[in-house]
Amino acid sequence: MSWVLGVKPPVQAEIGVIGGSGLYDPGIVENAREVKVYTPFGEPSDAIIVGEVKGRRVAFLPRHGRGHRIPPHRVNYRANIWALKALGVKWVISVSAVGSLREDYKPGDLVVPDQFIDMTKKRDYTFFEGPVVAHVSMADPFCEQLRRELIAAGERLGYRIHPKGTYVCIEGPRFSTRAESRIWKDVFKADIIGMTLVPEVNLACEAQLCYATLAMITDYDVWAERPVTAEEVIRIMAENVEKAKRILYEVIPRLPEEPEPSLCSCCKALETALL
Ligand SMILES: [Zn+2]
Repeated sequence: MSWVLGVKPPVQAEIGVIGGSGLYDPGIVENAREVKVYTPFGEPSDAIIVGEVKGRRVAFLPRHGRGHRIPPHRVNYRANIWALKALGVKWVISVSAVGSLREDYKPGDLVVPDQFIDMTKKRDYTFFEGPVVAHVSMADPFCEQLRRELIAAGERLGYRIHPKGTYVCIEGPRFSTRAESRIWKDVFKADIIGMTLVPEVNLACEAQLCYATLAMITDYDVWAERPVTAEEVIRIMAENVEKAKRILYEVIPRLPEEPEPSLCSCCKALETALL
């Protein structure tokens, strides 16, 4: 890992955006060009769109590939995070569609989660397969500074945005049974459910990136016994994607060049993790 060895690659972007379902092209990147990145872990989900948003260098990567070709359990998370790091990215804003496990987290609301529960089963969770071994801290898995910027941007725009939430990540691609959904809701006390946060978040930590998620609620999970039509989900998803674009446009120019050490320890994540 070149950055672990202290060799800095040329910086092509400082802010990375990983787009989730529905967000395949942010449409806000100027002077955009496509960059193909090859990594020791294979190819990322797609070519990366590198360009500018209000003067800041941004790299955009659609998590499922354009046209939504890659299901959640087949996303090459290691290649995606590696590629963003290799381009010089420091901040990663991850956008994802989720289901709600709470009555008051409504479809169309946005959540900036502060915790997660990992219920995935068979993914590649680390860059460190040995002989170097790393146990990164996940007590506070998200960058607090980036979380605050996302929340503030959502509030300035007048959106319903929840500043906390526990995201339970399931393996997929199937949805939960009713029994499982009630466990996530009533036993685990999770707030939202999705299939893509893990291992993206912990790999970002290993790569010492400042990472936070903007979760967009599309519907209630199956616990609610309130089936929605595909048309409703598609409409809400489209509205959410517009909100996400506006928040990105609002937050990107405000991110500092360097994280504030009192709010963020992301870039030191390996100092206490390497054995
Ligand atoms: Zn940070």
